[in-house]
Amino acid sequence: MGLMPLSAQTAKPIKTLIVTGQDGSHYWRGASEGIEKILENSGLFSVDILETPDFGEDMSHFKPRFQDYGLVVINYGGVTWEKEIQKSFEDYVSKGGGVVIIHSSIIPMENWPAYNLMTGLGAWNGRDERWGPFVYWKDGRYVYDYTPGYAGYHGLQHETVIEHRALEHPILKGLPTRWKHFKDEIYTHLRGPAKNIEILATVEEKGRHEPIMWTTTYGKGRVFVDVLGHCGNDPEMIYSILCTGYQVTLLRGAEWAATGSVTQKVPLDFPLEDTYTLRPDLVAPFHAYQE
Ligand code: ZN
Repeated sequence: MGLMPLSAQTAKPIKTLIVTGQDGSHYWRGASEGIEKILENSGLFSVDILETPDFGEDMSHFKPRFQDYGLVVINYGGVTWEKEIQKSFEDYVSKGGGVVIIHSSIIPMENWPAYNLMTGLGAWNGRDERWGPFVYWKDGRYVYDYTPGYAGYHGLQHETVIEHRALEHPILKGLPTRWKHFKDEIYTHLRGPAKNIEILATVEEKGRHEPIMWTTTYGKGRVFVDVLGHCGNDPEMIYSILCTGYQVTLLRGAEWAATGSVTQKVPLDFPLEDTYTLRPDLVAPFHAYQE
């Protein structure tokens, strides 16, 4: 007998579409293939990858069939989609479609208002106070900071401690509430409309607790945003997504976005506050879910 992943015996895999391409700062193809493996190896998802046309190519050939899927994962960094595709994605989400937004996918399409509502917070591409407040966490509360200024900053990559802020949320419930994440690029100074947003986790950067995982809703649709998971410009640089904590929260966020609940057990290899753990094969080890 091989792996007996999660609830694969009973559940029908969630049909998932990863939309990817046009990100000059990231190894998007490798990251998307890694995310595909993480999702499929859980037994909970069956994944198709759709690559957009390259930079400068005709986007009229880009016609995703969102409505055929229970989950859409955005790992994309390029030009704003055509109006017809925007409308089709807005329909998909507002009718209850699930969405996961990966790392740098909070940067593009800054001139598409519905996408800014779905992501809740964004960075770079000219974003400033016109897009909404900076949002961060202080003394147990959200801070909405309307100070003018440019959105988006990151320093050198480093290991960091992730702190959970919504302990009863299905994505986080039962997991250790503080855990060490492997080396990653941490985005800070995010700003956006921040409507219907729930901050799930923060990291402390320069004394400020910055949102790093959150949810939004758009119509009946659920969106899970995870800005961890930098993958650099070559295939050797997907180490951030090898982190067990990254993979587990991604899987739980993906299931929640698609279904509204999480059936996954808390794995035994989840990182501790002072110790990261890795899943280099992008799959839970055989002993991860022993009773
Ligand atoms: Zn990055």
